Amino acid sequence: MIGFGLLLLLWLGLVGSVLLYFRRDLRAIWREPVMRYPVMVVESDDWGAGPVAPQAAALNRLVDILSRYRDQNGRHPVMTLALVLAVPDGPAIRQDGQYHRLLLDGPLFAPVRQAIERGRAAGVFALQLHGLEHYWPAGLMASTDSTVRAWLADEGPGTTERLPSHMQSRWVDASVLPSEALDPAEVELAIEEEVNLYQKLFGAPPRVAVPPTFVWTEDVERAWARAGVEFVVTPGLRSACRNAEGLPDCDSGPFYNNQPGCGVTYLVRDDYFEPERGHRAEHGQSELVKKWAQRRPCLLETHRSNFIADEASTACNLAEVDRLYARVLDRHPDLRFASTEELGRGMKGGDPAWVDQRFTVHLLAWLERARALSIFWKAARVTGLALFMNLITATLKI
Ligand SMILES: [Zn+2]
Repeated sequence: MIGFGLLLLLWLGLVGSVLLYFRRDLRAIWREPVMRYPVMVVESDDWGAGPVAPQAAALNRLVDILSRYRDQNGRHPVMTLALVLAVPDGPAIRQDGQYHRLLLDGPLFAPVRQAIERGRAAGVFALQLHGLEHYWPAGLMASTDSTVRAWLADEGPGTTERLPSHMQSRWVDASVLPSEALDPAEVELAIEEEVNLYQKLFGAPPRVAVPPTFVWTEDVERAWARAGVEFVVTPGLRSACRNAEGLPDCDSGPFYNNQPGCGVTYLVRDDYFEPERGHRAEHGQSELVKKWAQRRPCLLETHRSNFIADEASTACNLAEVDRLYARVLDRHPDLRFASTEELGRGMKGGDPAWVDQRFTVHLLAWLERARALSIFWKAARVTGLALFMNLITATLKI
């Protein structure tokens, strides 16, 4: 009997130390809002300044597809467009060797702006800030890489996806590797400039920002917050530099939905729907199933590059978007569509239209989220804590 008591004490001590060790994450996933309905948002990056005809055509075709679907509230699917507001003006750069930009508000980009506005008016596009440029102009100008030099001087309007990956980061100077941090005063000025232009173009300052290549810093967050940005889309962590290999590094996190940052609130986008990389509608729907089990919204990342290459691949990838919406509405009749901004507001305010306040639902969501913390769950399985947690789940589900 004493032996059993000792064993029990030992087990409790072991389980207690696992819980203690992972307390920060376990507390964070408890604080994360618990969704009342399955929610899916396709978040599409890189639109705006760039190739004109392919983007305008793709955006118009996306409007046609999205407008065909509605959720139970009669709401169309919302695709968020993370917008880039300028690309280099190659001929002008060639002339005097200084940086010049082609702005999205110029007459050249009218067809792109019209397609964006059409989708906005139809309620299927919600706009977000990606960046004035998808790079740090001074970094690009300082680069000695011949492909970068040639890209800058090209007739354009340039396709930023063709730049070396590390040069596509806006909030570091990656002309040297490891990248160098930017002067906070320059960051502040650049953000003022991009927010003013965004406001001029779209009538209101951006409320949601998506950092290009997910490389950004606390300075950037503070400046965005001062300029009116409320939410920052993250992959669950922040990379603050590019390392010697050019890869995102200097990470902090993990971040969870509704977690406060430096004056902003984080939202997590860590699911992907890139048909050009082989993601089918079935994949998108299975991500939604996983997120709904955790009572989290499903934010699917995609890029314009899926829709602006040749006609055959564009048609194929658009058809996959179409199939995705048909499939998720068929499998999840209670699915809700929203913009990321609305979703963020709903979560932040604990709006009962979006957030489930029932304790049992909250506990079930927490248990499911804990299973997704891979290192914690391994420790839980080794110590037998997982069995105990699975038993609670099974009992609550009866
Ligand atoms: Zn991007």
